[in-house]
Amino acid sequence: MPVKPAPKKEEPAKKEEAKPVAAAEVAAAPKKAEKGKHEKKHRVEKGVHAMYKREGDKVSRARPTCERCGPGYFTADHHDRYTCGHCGFTRYKPK
Ligand SMILES: [Zn+2]
Repeated sequence: MPVKPAPKKEEPAKKEEAKPVAAAEVAAAPKKAEKGKHEKKHRVEKGVHAMYKREGDKVSRARPTCERCGPGYFTADHHDRYTCGHCGFTRYKPK
């Protein structure tokens, strides 16, 4: 009795299915918006005294005065420039 060779079963290679992104992972993403973001900032109101520095008995100006308006007009101290609020004169700080 001839032995028939068993037919080889060729299993088709299983295609790796792309794993669907778990919805839980997306939901677990850190939230950028925080509750404290919209809190009101309490600004300390500055008076004229903030424009001067006191060193012992002497008083010096904390900010430069406007070159266009002359003494009596202080310039606002921004992070990169001084600006006069009276005439708009702007002097950039040296880097
Ligand atoms: Zn000015």
